[in-house]
Amino acid sequence: MAEVRLRRAVFLDRDGTICEEVGYLNHISRLHIYPFASAAIRRLNDAGFPVVVVTNQSGAGRGFFPDSLIAEVHERIRHDLAVSGARIDAFYACPHRSEDNCDCRKPRTGMLERAAREHSLALPGSWVVGDRQADVDLAHNANARSIFVLTGYGRGEHEWHSRDWPHSPDFVVEDLAAAVDTILWREGAASKEHVPADRSAVTPEEIR
Ligand SMILES: [Mg+2]
Ligand SMILES: [Zn+2]
Repeated sequence: MAEVRLRRAVFLDRDGTICEEVGYLNHISRLHIYPFASAAIRRLNDAGFPVVVVTNQSGAGRGFFPDSLIAEVHERIRHDLAVSGARIDAFYACPHRSEDNCDCRKPRTGMLERAAREHSLALPGSWVVGDRQADVDLAHNANARSIFVLTGYGRGEHEWHSRDWPHSPDFVVEDLAAAVDTILWREGAASKEHVPADRSAVTPEEIR
C-alpha cells in the first residue's frame, strides 16, 4: 500500500479570529475581515501549512439564517483573501445547535477529523487558533496545540473565565498576526519565512 504523507495544518476559527465577532453573523453585510488577517494567512501559506477554517454556526440550526449564508460568507472570505494573495485551503462549518449533540460542534473533533481524511492531515502537532474556550478544548481533544487570541470574545473569556478552564491554551496572544508569529517561531521558520517551504511535514519529534 502506498504510504500517504500526512501534513500538519493550522486550523483557524472564523468569527473573532479572522473576522470580527458580531454575535450571529446573520448577513453578509456584517462580515468584516480583520485588516491583519490576509498577511498572517499568507505567511502560513508561504511556510507550507495547510490552512483550514473550522467554525461553529449554530445560528443556522436555530433558523436565524439559511445554511446558504455560511457558504456565501466563506466564498467572500476566500475571494477577499485571494485578492491579497492569501489562501484558505478548506472551510468546515458545524450548523448544529449544542442540543443536537452532533460530533462536529467544537470542542468536538468531527470537523478536524473530516479535514484530516479529506486533506491527508495529521492532527497531532497541528495548531488550532481561536478566541473561545471551545477552541482550546478542541485542540486538547485532537492532541493539537492551541493558541488563544484576545480578539473577538477572547479578551473577555480570558479575563473572566480562564482560571476555571479545564485545559489551558499553549499560548495566549493578541491576535491572528501574533499567533502566526508564534507558530512560525515554534516551527523554526521565522528566519526563512519568505522562502516557500513545506514546514508541515510530520516528523515524530515534532509531535508532542
Ligand atoms: Mg470565534
Ligand atoms: Zn455539528
